[in-house]
Amino acid sequence: MASTSPVFLRLMANAVAVANHAGNIIREVMSKGDLGIVEKGVNDPQTEADRRAQQCIIGNLNKKFPLMSVIGEEDLAQEIDVELVSDIDKEVLNLKCPEDLVNVPEQDFVVWVDPLDGTAEYTEGMLDHVTVLIGIAHKNRPVGGVIHQPYYNYKNDKAGLGRTLWGIPGVGVGGFNPVAPPEGKRLVVTTRSHMTPVVQQALDSLKPDEILRVGGAGYKVMLLMEGKATAYVFASPGCKKWDTCAPEAILTAMGGRLTDIHGDPYSYASTEMHPNRRGVLAAAKSDDHKWFVENIPDAVKQLVKS
Ligand code: AMP
Ligand code: MG
Ligand code: MG
Repeated sequence: MASTSPVFLRLMANAVAVANHAGNIIREVMSKGDLGIVEKGVNDPQTEADRRAQQCIIGNLNKKFPLMSVIGEEDLAQEIDVELVSDIDKEVLNLKCPEDLVNVPEQDFVVWVDPLDGTAEYTEGMLDHVTVLIGIAHKNRPVGGVIHQPYYNYKNDKAGLGRTLWGIPGVGVGGFNPVAPPEGKRLVVTTRSHMTPVVQQALDSLKPDEILRVGGAGYKVMLLMEGKATAYVFASPGCKKWDTCAPEAILTAMGGRLTDIHGDPYSYASTEMHPNRRGVLAAAKSDDHKWFVENIPDAVKQLVKS
């Protein structure tokens, strides 16, 4: 069965398994207590967990799909031999493949990997903000996404620790139940650790009922997917393609939208520059997305463009 499945489904099913394995690594590094923090730039930490999770994900995907481009956040000098993850997610493998992806060969996919999104929050103990993001693009657009949340339920001993969410536009989502945001309220989620005057200016002009400040692009989009926020607004160039590819795929699969703050989609071609220079604007309902595009002031839009 597996060998006759379309490459895309094998890729998605492997992405789920390696994301789960990366989650084990992230918990193991934390439980050992030495995070091995290195500063990559201003307010941009990397830990041993970021490094080892990326080695696991990219090492495995490169072994299983050697012709495919896999782009990871971390710039790691040396390749090491990684432990091969032998399991594969059977439920995802047995999904119906989107018609236009059935015969696509591995070299035509591009995979964007954020091995640990929300590193600042990881180091500060806000563990539910941490996610592993694996986004799959074809013809520049996200066609599949996996978000693993290693510390889901970590405050509840009786529930299972961690969960994995996936989405394929045209097929559906799994690992969670989509919930619509509350009607008649504007709940905006944004950065907690990368605030700038322009991000604040955008938020002020939208007159939100509530502003939620949480870490990571993955966790913010999860709040949209589960009805905790109306829109994710980040009028700043700091977010990268590996932050948005997987969340965009899942959000799109449930009818939402993720674009720049002008309302234009990003391209996820392998040659694309990494930063999302024109900011991020996402919503679980396309009507909400439209409202936010229209209501972000031109002055802000002029300040956030490539
Ligand atoms: P945040 O919403 O601040 O948690 O950021 C979401 C993602 O974008 C995380 O992966 C951050 O590391 C990244 N990011 C946002 N702004 C910056 C920045 N100014 N410098 C580095 N990374 C950033
Ligand atoms: Mg990130
Ligand atoms: Mg990261």
